[in-house]
Amino acid sequence: MLSVREVAQRLDVPVEMVRRHGIGGRVPEATVVALEAEPPAWLLQSRANRTGAPVWVDLECVVCGHAEKERPKKWWPEWTYLSCFRHAPTEAPAPAEGTVRREVDGIGSQFVALVDEPAA
Ligand SMILES: [Zn+2]
Repeated sequence: MLSVREVAQRLDVPVEMVRRHGIGGRVPEATVVALEAEPPAWLLQSRANRTGAPVWVDLECVVCGHAEKERPKKWWPEWTYLSCFRHAPTEAPAPAEGTVRREVDGIGSQFVALVDEPAA
């Protein structure tokens, strides 16, 4: 059984859209397979209207490889690396020479964005 969130990721549409079309609770795998095999009008429409930006992005920790999918947020910086909160800063690759690193918390459920920018 899949969660609504997993269904949305599989179909690459927002969670709200899945809910709006009566899919909720725990969803059998067969339901998703059927939607992929014969997409209903709303799913085709959503794909046709896609503006090019991905609905879901893959986030992956540079240290341990933990990965998750998340909806991209407008406030996210352009990061050099992502790292889980629990890793020490020294576990991630060092910033390139001539760059300074700042950290942005709260990416996905457990990531810190490591943003390396040219030193002023
Ligand atoms: Zn990690």
